[in-house]
Formats: sequence, structure tokens, C-alpha cells
Amino acid sequence: MTADQQPWQWDEQTWRAHVARVRAGRLLRPASWPGGARVAVALSFDADHETIPLRHGETGPGKLAQGEYGSRVGAPRVLRLLERFGVPASFFMPAVSALLHPEEVRSYVAAGHEVGMHGWIHEGNTLLDPADERELALRAADTLEKLTGTRPVGIRTPAWEFSHHTLAITRELGLRYDSSLMADDDPYELLADGEPTGVVEIPVEWIRDDVPYLTIEHRGGLRWSTPPRQVAGVWCDEFDAALEEGGLFQLTMHPHVIGHRSRMVALRELLEHIDAHEGVWYATHAQVAEYVLEQCP
Ligand SMILES: [Zn+2]
Repeated sequence: MTADQQPWQWDEQTWRAHVARVRAGRLLRPASWPGGARVAVALSFDADHETIPLRHGETGPGKLAQGEYGSRVGAPRVLRLLERFGVPASFFMPAVSALLHPEEVRSYVAAGHEVGMHGWIHEGNTLLDPADERELALRAADTLEKLTGTRPVGIRTPAWEFSHHTLAITRELGLRYDSSLMADDDPYELLADGEPTGVVEIPVEWIRDDVPYLTIEHRGGLRWSTPPRQVAGVWCDEFDAALEEGGLFQLTMHPHVIGHRSRMVALRELLEHIDAHEGVWYATHAQVAEYVLEQCP
């Protein structure tokens, strides 16, 4: 294999090696969830705030204010709703966002939520050279540890981008889980070049994310196409099927996206729907990862 080969010129060994680099291993779906629960519900919020414009070098106050809304208004609103339903969640935070909002980080910890890694400044890790990606990840882990008092145990890569080196860095950091990949609905073990890693994947999907449904780009062709109550309907269907299969219902949201008045309706309706069912285990991503590793040794 040479570096300048086109994909159609690759020999079998080459395309197999690309696919095998990071792959789904055994399914980690336990026979039942804690307390005999039939479904696990793991809600997550990526508290990106100002790092969304900052990651692109955009420093205009207009864009930054949209991020600021996430911390000032969205996050407290999310916390109040979670408290009302008694639901724990995982908050993935770029280190720069955490440094800008240390009081917000403390409010997550005080309410018993998990704070996980989400890059340094929401950098695109596939654009970085491996040494930079590693250094930023180490620095982000140290920063979150300092702010929360606990070493993070999980990572969601910014924008779910995954470089050829991301998994090695995750392993070096001793993280228990990643939550950035999409090879299943339920947790699974990550393989690196065919070898089990012991790292749990808590899979994500754009279907279970607020951004694609609710992002408005007023100058571009992209329009908000799905009313929040319809988004709640999609997520309720995802939950119902997870319950039927005895699996995991995982959801990704963003305080600056879901945290608006009309959109919190979607999350409230979802929580009311879930709450009406028996056999639900609400857990942080870290608790899900810990439990599946215990149950599927
Ligand atoms: Zn993010």
C-alpha cells in the first residue's frame, strides 16, 4: 500500500485494515438493568456554549451571545426540569466552556450529575496532528478534574469526530467509555485492530440529537423543519422500542439548543412519556458503562 493510492486501488488487506481500526466488539446489553428495570435511560447534554463559534475562530459577540445563552438560560432551565423528574444526566463539557462557567460546572456536580470530557475548545480532532490531539485531551481531563474534584471517566468527542488516534488517547487516559460512535443502539465494547479494549461505547445517533431538528441558519438554506413536539414524538418512539428490546435509550441535547422556552416542551413531553412507564432505570453514561461491564464480564 502507498499513501497516494486511490481507494479503488487498495488491495484487500488495506481496506480491511481501515475498517478494523475501530470496530464494534461484543454487545454489552445485560439480561436486565438494575432493580429488574427493562430499559436504561441515559440523557446527555453537551454544554458547548461559546466554544461552537470559538472552535472556528469566530470571535464576534453576536455568535458568542448565542452560546452564552446556553449557560445563562438553557443550562439552569435543563437542571430545573431534571430535578423535577429526579433524573440524573451526563454533561459533556469542552474544557474552555468549563473554565468560562465554573459555577455551572459546580451546579452539575452539586445536583449529582456526571461531567464528562468534550475536547478542549470543541476542536475537530480529525484536523489535528496526533501529538496535539493527545496534549489537548490530557489538558482537558486535568482541567475538568480540577473544576469538578473528580477525574472524568468518559469522553464524547467534539461533534463526534473520531481520528485514527482518538481511541488510543482514550485508552491512555484510562477512560471507561466513549460516547461518539454509532455501530449499535445498545452499548458495546470497542475493538482496536480486532483486539478488545475494555472501553465501552455508549452509542449516539443524529436521530437522538436536538441539533439536526432544531438548528436555524437564517442566511443559509437550512431551516428549522421539525416542531419541537414532533421531535418529542421521534424520541418517544426511540424510547418505546428500547423498552421493548430491553436496551438503552440514549439522548444527546445541548443547553443552547433545547434550552429555549418552546423547545423545553419536547424534553418535558419526553420525560412525562418515560415517567408513565414501569421498569425504567435512569442513569448517567458512567453508570451505564460501569453496570454493563460488571454484568457482561
Ligand atoms: Zn459539542
